[in-house]
Amino acid sequence: MPESAWEFVTRAMAELRALGGAVSVLSWDQETFLPPRGGPARAEQLAALQGIVHERLTDPRLGEALARAGDEVAGDPERAAALRALRFDRERAVRVPGRLVRALARAQSEGVEAWREAREASDFARFAPRLETLLGLRREQAEAFGVPAGGERYDALLEGYEEGMRVARLAPILSHLTGWLSPLVDRLCAAPPPDDAFLRGRFDVEAQWAFTLELLPLLGFDLAAGRQDRSAHPFSTGIDPGDVRITTRLFETLPLSSIYSTLHEAGHGMYEQGLPERWRASVLCSAPSAGLHESQSRLWENLVGRSLPFWKGMMPRLARRFPSMAAVPPEAFHRAANRVERSLIRVEADEVTYNLHIALRFELELAMVRGDLSVADLPGAWNDRSEKLLGIRPPRDAEGCLQDIHWSFGDFGYFPTYALGNLYAASLYAAARRELPGLEAGFETGAFAPLLGWLRAKVHALGRSLPAEEIVRAATGGGLTDEDFRRYLVGKYSSLYGV
Ligand code: ZN
Repeated sequence: MPESAWEFVTRAMAELRALGGAVSVLSWDQETFLPPRGGPARAEQLAALQGIVHERLTDPRLGEALARAGDEVAGDPERAAALRALRFDRERAVRVPGRLVRALARAQSEGVEAWREAREASDFARFAPRLETLLGLRREQAEAFGVPAGGERYDALLEGYEEGMRVARLAPILSHLTGWLSPLVDRLCAAPPPDDAFLRGRFDVEAQWAFTLELLPLLGFDLAAGRQDRSAHPFSTGIDPGDVRITTRLFETLPLSSIYSTLHEAGHGMYEQGLPERWRASVLCSAPSAGLHESQSRLWENLVGRSLPFWKGMMPRLARRFPSMAAVPPEAFHRAANRVERSLIRVEADEVTYNLHIALRFELELAMVRGDLSVADLPGAWNDRSEKLLGIRPPRDAEGCLQDIHWSFGDFGYFPTYALGNLYAASLYAAARRELPGLEAGFETGAFAPLLGWLRAKVHALGRSLPAEEIVRAATGGGLTDEDFRRYLVGKYSSLYGV
């Protein structure tokens, strides 16, 4: 019997998943173990594999099968969802001409190199021409993807990370958010900062490493279906629900850094481990959006990991690794772990000021994509906006507009997903608390399984079968809002800071 259209699609999806997994392993290895002289060969290996992925995805036979398979899967919502997701990916891949794909790949590798040098020297001029090129190519790419009706070019870029999200929806949410965050930051920064003297000093990195490895299985990260290694910039990579790689970083004088990196990446990792195994060869075996993925990391990092019950449970364990901690009450550690301050660097920002860093980047990249802000004017605009939003002016571009890697790839549209992740995290957590009595008291005894089980059922198990906001709506009863986040932050920090 000849192969049905659905069978063809199934075979193509399985192959794409396998190839994508191989790309992920090679990229993970590049960031963790690859010896420096292996770099050029690795770039070739990745480019070759990604070329094959692109070929398979844009294969006209797949297009025909996708068109015909709709009738065959009628009445089967899972298969219909897989077809819809694969069509979405394929259409975006098909619409961008090969010439533009190659030009972007070249501009990205040149961009990253120029950005590293520019940041090292804090010299924006060295990066500016590359950024100009990337911006031009991304605008061209947005046109190729297709600007949604009534929308704008930035929407077409945003769509790659957050399907269905539009500037018209996002911009008011972010400006509402900054509207109440800024005065909250003012109030908190006017109050005396919590004492964190006990976090100063030297903390053996091997003991830090051992503590993070102790944390992982307690949270529910399955070390038989994943591993943790070290890298300069922490990240997570889901190869398969049975093979999830995360990394952390260790600084002798910053003991919180490794703990919160591990908690963050474990949140991403547990999401990947919780994707349904029956979909491991399907396009549905992934998150529907970057924002929803980020909600899982921020939930474990902040809502759980910066709570008092968490530290009531963890302090004895921490004290076994670091005897000086035995004298620190959990309440004091909790306050120190929630220190709020105006700072320059996004990745080190506390959870109150963090979204202001995102709002700054969103405003500026939107203005650049729209053509309202020239690349040459970026550093000045950054510094002015930083002063206004964050109350702090970077002394050098390395600590200003050159600090993040994203624009060196021309990744415009990615930053706002971090803020969406924070909002989704707060809403999901609030719903979990309503539905699971005693949830937080359980953290004191290391009982994280009820929370993970709830997230598995409400979020992880759905993979990419529904849009992110629909998953959140089904889990919480409400869509995208900053209400739960506001209630959480104001409640927590008012009591911590007594303001
Ligand atoms: Zn993350």
